[in-house]
Amino acid sequence: MPDALIVGAGPVGSYIAQKLAGLGYEVEVFEDHKVIGEPVQCSGIIGRECFERFDMPQNIVLTESKSAKFFSPTDRCLKLATDGVQAYIIDRKALDEAMAQRARDAGATYHLSTKVIDISMGDDGVQVTTSNGSNLELHYAKVVIIASGFGSKLPYSLGLGRVSYYIAGAQMEVDITGVDEVELYFSQRIAPGFFGWLIPTGGGKGLAGLFARSRPRQHLSKMIGNLRSKGKITTEGKITAGGVPLKPLARTYAERVLVVGDAAGQVKPTTGGGVYYGLLCADIAVDTLHQSFISNDFSKKTMSSYQKAWRKRLGRELKMGYLARRLYAKMNDRQIETLFKIAESKGIAHILMESKNMRFDWHGGLLLESLKQIGPWRYFFSRHKS
Ligand SMILES: Cc1cc2nc3c(=O)[nH]c(=O)nc-3n(C[C@H](O)[C@H](O)[C@H](O)COP(=O)(O)OP(=O)(O)OC[C@H]3O[C@@H](n4cnc5c(N)ncnc54)[C@H](O)[C@@H]3O)c2cc1C
Repeated sequence: MPDALIVGAGPVGSYIAQKLAGLGYEVEVFEDHKVIGEPVQCSGIIGRECFERFDMPQNIVLTESKSAKFFSPTDRCLKLATDGVQAYIIDRKALDEAMAQRARDAGATYHLSTKVIDISMGDDGVQVTTSNGSNLELHYAKVVIIASGFGSKLPYSLGLGRVSYYIAGAQMEVDITGVDEVELYFSQRIAPGFFGWLIPTGGGKGLAGLFARSRPRQHLSKMIGNLRSKGKITTEGKITAGGVPLKPLARTYAERVLVVGDAAGQVKPTTGGGVYYGLLCADIAVDTLHQSFISNDFSKKTMSSYQKAWRKRLGRELKMGYLARRLYAKMNDRQIETLFKIAESKGIAHILMESKNMRFDWHGGLLLESLKQIGPWRYFFSRHKS
């Protein structure tokens, strides 16, 4: 009987597979799709801290990012720029492939085109039912790790609840002209509740996308039309869509079960970026599992230490980001425009760039500092009510 079964060969599932296999455990990974990394539902922006910490391969880097332009509803532009690289734009499919290859090299076995349709508990192990479209198969192991991404029903089927707040994304590959920095668009008309983006990926190509509370494809089509009329985009590709959770699951563990990554809602609510936080939680999951293998104790109580540890590491960031996100979602374009005006007049972009809180993946400190710099928010909301 294998030690661990992993549902999902995204970056989180493959990272856990690599780590557990490297510790000598027998690991099997089930992936619904027939090709790892497809379909791509990601812009591939990875902060430098994440890239280095998880030793991501250089050959997946498409471009480096040292600056970004933030556009207000009326196209007022604030630029944040640093001397050093803040983030890498990577080929996301290549990342998933590279991480799966590392796991295979460490000894993990992959089953592609294999969907996990049920997980149930036995006396001395966990039972997983898979389907390859025509046949059902039963598999047994000591533990199962659910790393099945956004929208997976598996945590709910185990009584772990559902992600209660999420946002829908849509993205398209485009040909770009005259855009050589990441651009972000803030307007409730363009991307209700979130923001839109245009990311140069090198060679005259780019990714145009947005997150919105609903109908992301329609909003993206409108945004693309707008960018085309400004001459930033010439040719368009096919739209891909996907969601991201903005609030974690209430419970991310059960007896013999851990839920990690997007499936657990471990995503930065400020940007919708989930790769880094998912991988940080994957490391915590591996520590918990290693301890439970050593003590041969897979009880709910032992598994709960995973949730305690990841909440300690990320809880404050997730809460603050979530509150900021909800606050932004309530603002109208006039209020957003005012925020940009205040930021411009007070030189806030420059202050933030100089601040120790300016960190690509950690926004709690940055949010507090921005709130302080912007000034009296009560006044702001009362004066600019719609
Ligand atoms: C439009 C968009 C842009 C984004 N841009 C960024 C970005 O720039 N930077 C960033 O950090 N994050 C970004 N994200 C978020 C990022 O893609 C996710 O946070 C990340 O992929 C989570 O990794 P994961 O391994 O948890 O899940 P996933 O990458 O979703 O992997 C889950 C895997 O599980 C498989 N699976 C699902 N159910 C089953 C099942 N029952 N049986 C077997 N296999 C199953 C799926 O096929 C999938 O391969 C973006 C998301 C979207 C939608």
